[in-house]
Order: sequence, then C-alpha cells, then structure tokens
Amino acid sequence: MSEDLWLNRPLVLPWLKDRWEHLLDLKSRNRFPHALLINGPEGIGKACFSLALANYVLCRNPQDSSACGKCRSCELTASGNHPDLYQLHPDEPGKPIKIDQIRELTEFIYSTAQQGGYRVVIIDPADSMNINAANALLKMLEEPGENTLLMLLSHRLGQMLPTIKSRCQRVDMPPADAVIATKWVATQLEVEPEEAAQLLVITHNSPLQALAYKQDDLLGLRAKVLKGLADILKNRSSSVEVAQQLFKEDLELILGWIYSWMVDIARSSESEADPEVLRHNDARNMLLALARKVSSRKLYAYADLVQEARRDLMFRRNPNKQLLMEKVLGEWYSLPKG
Ligand SMILES: [Zn+2]
Repeated sequence: MSEDLWLNRPLVLPWLKDRWEHLLDLKSRNRFPHALLINGPEGIGKACFSLALANYVLCRNPQDSSACGKCRSCELTASGNHPDLYQLHPDEPGKPIKIDQIRELTEFIYSTAQQGGYRVVIIDPADSMNINAANALLKMLEEPGENTLLMLLSHRLGQMLPTIKSRCQRVDMPPADAVIATKWVATQLEVEPEEAAQLLVITHNSPLQALAYKQDDLLGLRAKVLKGLADILKNRSSSVEVAQQLFKEDLELILGWIYSWMVDIARSSESEADPEVLRHNDARNMLLALARKVSSRKLYAYADLVQEARRDLMFRRNPNKQLLMEKVLGEWYSLPKG
C-alpha cells in the first residue's frame, strides 16, 4: 500500500492535536521525557506525528506549536537527511528489528549532536524488536545522555518487554474520531462524505489506510473479490476458477475482508437479518442473502477457517497460495448448502 507517502511527512493529524499540545506543554515546562512510547491503532498517523515531534524538537526556531519550517534544521528534516534524526525500521516489513540494528543505533546515541541540539530516534514499530534487540535497547533507555529523545511506536503493546515499557512515558493515541476522520478523508481524496465513511468502515477506521485504498485502487480489487464470491454462490464460476483469478493478489488483505464480512453477517443474522446492522454496504445484497440462509454458528466456523488461513500466510509457513484459496473458496461454496 502507498501509506509510505504519508509516513514520511511530519504532520499532526486533526484527531491527534490534543496529544500534540500535551507534549508541547511538557516541553515548555521542562518536563519533557527522554523516551516516549507512542501507542495506538495502525493507520491513524503515529509515524507522521513522531516525525512532526522530531522536527519540532530539532528546529532551531520553533514557533508556538510547530517547527519554523525555514531553519537549516527544518530543511534537513524535510529532505530526510537530518544527521541528528535516526529512524529505525525492520529491514523488511513484517520482519523483526535485530540486535545489530540496535548496536548501530548505540553509536548514534552516544555521539555528539551534529547540529548542536537534540538527537532524536524513532523506532517503528518498536514491538517488532526481538528479545536481544530489546535488551540491548534497555541500556540506552536507562542512560540516554542529555538532549536525547527516543520515540518508540507501537500498535501491539502486549508484545513489548515490561522493562522497556516502564522506562518510557506512554502516550496513548486515540482512535480517529469518526466525524473528524470522515471529513478529513473526504477532503484529502476529494470524494463525497458517504464514500469517505465507507472507506473508513472497510479499513476499520484507519484514515491513512483509507487514503491508500483509494490511491491503490483497492476498491477495484474488493469489487473483483465480491464478484468472484457471488459467482461461486450462483454457480457462474467454480471455486477453483475464482481461486485462480485471485491467488496472486494480496491474500492477507482479501482474507481480512472475507473475515470481516462473515462477522458482519453473523451479527446481522443474530438480529434476524436486520439490514441496519450490516456495515459493509458494498457487499450488502450478498451478505443479506447469506444471513437468511446460514446459521451464525456456521458463519463463525467459516470465519475461523478464514482466520486460520490468514495466520498461515502471516507467519510465513509458505503455504501454496493457490491451494489455500481453493480451500477457502470451496468451503465458501458449500456454506449455504445445508
Ligand atoms: Zn526550524
């Protein structure tokens, strides 16, 4: 997804303004911590936020509530080449951050700031550090040296060492406010509020993912998946044929959709197929038809199967993707058949 476009911009998104003001207030009262644990759901703007904070802290001439955007330091941050800003990510998305990467960071932390001010480190996602990396980081958190700011970003707090957590000041980022986020997405994408709201439903209220959906035409892929599923139920295509059409796409994403549709209709059949309960409007007719025919017990069982297939993909057990899709879609075919 092209979220990267957004990840690399210092930006405080509107629903995070309170947190921004809170941190700037701490800074103005000289109570700024040396380590922040920035925690919250994916796709709400934590990375942009931490870059904005880095930019602010490094700026030589900060204004009331933002960096000046003009000084040498701001120029360096904007170009992505600030020598006193260190961004640490896994070598590949989804892989752990390793101890060697933390060792390289040590050199940076204990060197002198080249621009004479702060040294800032952003570790994203910090919950992807393996145990050795986390232990190596602990030392730095204990004695970070003067004018150092470490920002650890996380959306899976449970996977972080308690000793790391206890050495950071935790900043919980709220989910995006629905009204504000809808308006923001509509403005960014120049679409009607209804479409923005629908994108937010699909992305589980993640405004940045909503933008990526539109930009990468994931709605087109979604329409293709829905058509394939409908074709199977109506005997227009076999599950093997549809698996053939889909198995080279982003299967984690597709299985995530199917899973949330199942949960949607299971909920709706519990309330006697009340159409108001359905959140996914684009899949509405098919979901309603299924809700009338299939018990919620069966739907949940199918959702479990989909979830299991997703796990197989995520943990890289190298499943045969075509077979995996054939299985998921074969079960889909028999879902309404007693
Ligand atoms: Zn500046």
